[in-house]
Amino acid sequence: LKQSPNHNVHIALLHYPVLGKTGEIIASAITNLDLHDIARASKTYGVQSFQVIIPLDDQRQIAQEICNHWTTGYGSRANPDRKASFDLIQVTSDFETAKTNIFKQTSQYPCTIATTAKSLQAAISFYKCRQMIESPVPHLLIFGTSWGIAPDFIDQCDYILSPIQNGQAYNHLSVRSAVAIILDRLMGAFE
Ligand code: SAM
Repeated sequence: LKQSPNHNVHIALLHYPVLGKTGEIIASAITNLDLHDIARASKTYGVQSFQVIIPLDDQRQIAQEICNHWTTGYGSRANPDRKASFDLIQVTSDFETAKTNIFKQTSQYPCTIATTAKSLQAAISFYKCRQMIESPVPHLLIFGTSWGIAPDFIDQCDYILSPIQNGQAYNHLSVRSAVAIILDRLMGAFE
């Protein structure tokens, strides 16, 4: 299969609502590595935008400053390839604004697909998801931080994607690794 040009895929990295260590709902802190690695994977696989959703004002400011460095500051001139990936990032305070950002780009609200390491009955296979996103309709793949996306939020998404290594005793990847593997399974070209 060759990489299809007929994709309109977007990524969201959710810092709220996610689970904390003891299962409570929290807002997590920004991780610089996540911004770099997910932006680069997104650019490599033809993702249209990377929505970083973070409600804490100080954390959102840090995220925006990192992005500014690579998109308009010294970093953009020192490393144009890094700029090309960071240009995909939009830092927002909440999920509704992220969906509106995609509406502004595509004139459609995205179909939402949650990711999780947990085995959930309603999850769709990678095979089905790969077929589904081969479409001009915008699809938003949502990734969590901390101990994963809050269950109520997952329930409100249009689809849930099966976990990588579903059913294994240990399958808790860093979100950066999970994004790269999922993009390759859903949008990767292989011959
Ligand atoms: N225990 C958490 C869970 O059940 O999702 C893992 C949280 S992990 C540190 C952060 C994010 O990476 C998850 O919210 C999910 O988006 C992604 N992730 C991690 N492992 C995954 C897996 N095996 N399959 C799919 N996504 C995964």
